[in-house]
Amino acid sequence: MAQRTAGHDCGFLADIVPEARVDFEESRREEFAVDASPHDPTLPDAVVWPHTTEEVSAVLAAANERGVPVTPWSGGSSLEGNAIPAAGGVVLNTVKMDDVSVSPADLQATVGPGIVYDDLNERLGTYGLRFPPGISSGDVATIGGMIANNASGFNAVKYGETRDHVRQLEVVLPDGEVIRCGRGVVKTSSGYSLKDLFVGSEGTLGVVTEATIGLTGIPERKRAALVTFPSDVAATSAVSEMMGFGLEPAAVEYLDTLTVEMINDYREEVSLREEPTLILEFHDNTSGIEEDVEFARGICEDNDATGWEAADEGEMDRVWQARRDALPAYRAHDPELETALLGDIVVPISAYPDIVATIKDASEALDLVVPCVGHAGDGNLHFTPLVDTDDDAAVARAHEFNDRVIERTLELGGTATGEHGVGVGKRKFMRAEHGNAVDLMGTIKDAIDPNGIMNPGKVLPEE
Ligand SMILES: Cc1cc2nc3c(=O)[nH]c(=O)nc-3n(C[C@H](O)[C@H](O)[C@H](O)COP(=O)(O)OP(=O)(O)OC[C@H]3O[C@@H](n4cnc5c(N)ncnc54)[C@H](O)[C@@H]3O)c2cc1C
Repeated sequence: MAQRTAGHDCGFLADIVPEARVDFEESRREEFAVDASPHDPTLPDAVVWPHTTEEVSAVLAAANERGVPVTPWSGGSSLEGNAIPAAGGVVLNTVKMDDVSVSPADLQATVGPGIVYDDLNERLGTYGLRFPPGISSGDVATIGGMIANNASGFNAVKYGETRDHVRQLEVVLPDGEVIRCGRGVVKTSSGYSLKDLFVGSEGTLGVVTEATIGLTGIPERKRAALVTFPSDVAATSAVSEMMGFGLEPAAVEYLDTLTVEMINDYREEVSLREEPTLILEFHDNTSGIEEDVEFARGICEDNDATGWEAADEGEMDRVWQARRDALPAYRAHDPELETALLGDIVVPISAYPDIVATIKDASEALDLVVPCVGHAGDGNLHFTPLVDTDDDAAVARAHEFNDRVIERTLELGGTATGEHGVGVGKRKFMRAEHGNAVDLMGTIKDAIDPNGIMNPGKVLPEE
């Protein structure tokens, strides 16, 4: 049941967009009370679907005048409560703003925020191009949501995160003013990089209405391998060595033994070795790819790998199916247990074995079931405590576990969130991670959004 706020009069929306694109119906508003996270739902007072920058501008100007909160929304697939309308008010859904204009010669595209990642890549494929961060929720996540959360995924280790590809943004500020920041070029040293301020700002500073993004060519050759190890230390040390030697894999995914066991239970026809596992992927346009694969194999063997199952392009789906099955396998593992929270830490690559060991120790000490997977190549690790969410003590232990892991992550020089963003769940770690830089973030927020209407209750700590 969604929480309710005191309520805001959002009748003004009907004067800005046609009736069919505003919803006041409670059953419809319920759909936008929560994103894909386990955080508490809050009911918005209205949902609006603008089609143009002018409509976004008019909605924000009117909401700002009345002090009505506005939470941008695109695919609603956030995992930290980023898109939950925590203070009620308007959910401003940009999913209908999905135009795409490709400039193949410049390796860039100008897109609306609502275009879905997989749909964009399907269209780019006709030009031999792709937008490469490689998000796992690509069937629902939009480019607007990816920019706002600075999302990335299994290919970020080679191609970078969303931020690395954003060249120019059109943004509507809370008072309705429209600005353009950045340029549609590969580099610029002109002025403060405002586009970087909006990337990762989770809709707390304005609404992205258009983005020019850099693209890459589709690689001609791909290879993958499923590699097993006798211990977490062996698997994670192999990752640290591979990256330390300067190999440039396109993906390095780590799956702990618990995850592999759950995947085997989930799919009867699958029988993976129940050991810590790495999925490696390499991309190249030349035969040099074979040397990279052999080099990686040597490192894995030096770290006592117990199995190496190679796959060429035609067989890669089989290898990747294991990774794709992880989340559904967690959910199917025990109908009594649910996801208490979703960990998303990143540590310097040399500290990866340390943080994996911390997670194993803490889950044992707190008697929790915590399967882990991670984009290990860039030091990113996701841990998922599974608990009976009606058992308050178990939920409290899951949060205690999260606190311990993040405390160690920060000691190791890491970050509390690698790709999911701060949303509601990571606010309490902001001061520990950023120190007095949080005060400057607060000053920037107040300067751009003095009435505090943009996605209140997110990113900055409550203090
Ligand atoms: C099964 C699953 C797998 C996932 N895998 C990954 C993964 O591999 N990597 C990863 O990074 N994330 C992953 N996620 C999380 C999520 O998909 C990403 O955070 C994604 O970027 C959210 O995009 P969205 O379009 O759904 O945005 P939403 O959830 O709608 O919004 C995200 C944030 O952006 C703001 N926003 C939305 N549109 C705009 C706009 N036009 N202007 C300004 N702000 C806006 C919202 O207010 C919110 O704060 C996964 C989620 C699920 C459910």
